[in-house]
Amino acid sequence: MNILIINAGSSSLKYQLMDPDTGVVSAKGLCERIYIDGRLTHSANGKKVVKDIPMPTHSEAIEAVLEILVDPVDGVIKSTDEIDAVGHRVLHGGMEFFDSCIINDEVIAAIEKCIPLGPLHNPANLMGIRACQAVMPSTPQVAVFDTAFHMTMPPVAYRYAIPTEYYKNDSIRRYGFHGTSHKYVTKRAIELMGRKDIKLVNCHLGNGSSMSAVKDGKCQDTSMGLTPLAGVPMGTRSGDLDPAVVQFIMNKYGMSADECLNMLNKKSGVMAISGVSSDFRDIENSALSGNEDCALALDKFAYEVRKYIGSYSAALGGLDCLVFTAGVGENSASMRARICQNLEYLGVKIDPEKNEVRGKEAIISTDDSKVTVWVIPTNEELMIAQDTAELVKAAK
Ligand code: AMP
Repeated sequence: MNILIINAGSSSLKYQLMDPDTGVVSAKGLCERIYIDGRLTHSANGKKVVKDIPMPTHSEAIEAVLEILVDPVDGVIKSTDEIDAVGHRVLHGGMEFFDSCIINDEVIAAIEKCIPLGPLHNPANLMGIRACQAVMPSTPQVAVFDTAFHMTMPPVAYRYAIPTEYYKNDSIRRYGFHGTSHKYVTKRAIELMGRKDIKLVNCHLGNGSSMSAVKDGKCQDTSMGLTPLAGVPMGTRSGDLDPAVVQFIMNKYGMSADECLNMLNKKSGVMAISGVSSDFRDIENSALSGNEDCALALDKFAYEVRKYIGSYSAALGGLDCLVFTAGVGENSASMRARICQNLEYLGVKIDPEKNEVRGKEAIISTDDSKVTVWVIPTNEELMIAQDTAELVKAAK
């Protein structure tokens, strides 16, 4: 099977052509500068090509993608009929979507209804969907939501303790993000552990970071909230914060709410504390050369992640399995060790030698550790391809 995976942004569109059974990616690329002029960067058959192609809308971008996929030199298929389905990444499914689904008019209307919750991403995701429908009308399209995996959370986890009218009238609650990643590593953890009835904490630690507490394969809690600003500190996002800080800063510095939120999203996190970079590699290198602010940024990040592991273990009533994924989680042995310090009381014991692993599935806990600690590289695209293939096969 060939699944085309589309991640549409407001002026860009990423794509991959993947076999959902093997995970093999035969071609991938990026359309940029849509609405401005248009540039396609395409990688297939072991080489990369860059072409300037006019892209006045997302439709021309999709047309350019299909054209290069069937190109005799740079392409990988003979005809677009060989594309069995398209899987679209959609940011916010609000309270409308509990799972991935085949796109029809009702689904489009429901994604539109979620625009107030994802005002930047959902309109762009819809443009990608509409462009594919226009250019390949008989190919099934599937929407895969960043929020859907977390929709099994109970009300104690998803309700905010603010007046009910905001929940009832405006759907303000915890949703959580990175759901496709949390779903993928949960699925792998269950396969690797050989049983579904595990109490699991997933640490998706990258430029954006989020945690999830999972029981019997179902999400019970997650650290991001109505938006991806909540939870642990991130590259440039503050994470959890006393909301009164916003009022204080707005009043003192004459900032608007949007300006203040922009500061919390783009100028905070480990970048703010380190004063050096939002990139964990830079921060780790500077900390090694004695920069104390960088050391504090790393300690702060590890401390907050560790606190979530503790609170989620309490929420789950125990812990069987701890998973590290995403850029930092998969690659930084020192950050994993820092996070797991003082977690022995929970039964987490890291083996320093096993922990020296990067970017591949491995157990990093000792043989006698009560909790099995895993590194599981995430694969959101494979999850999207698998969900898409499953739905399309079931509909046949
Ligand atoms: P992601 O958002 O998942 O792509 O993760 C990006 C983050 O992972 C960046 O902050 C990188 O610095 C970090 N990262 C990638 N490789 C390493 C590494 N070997 N050690 C520490 N951080 C890393």
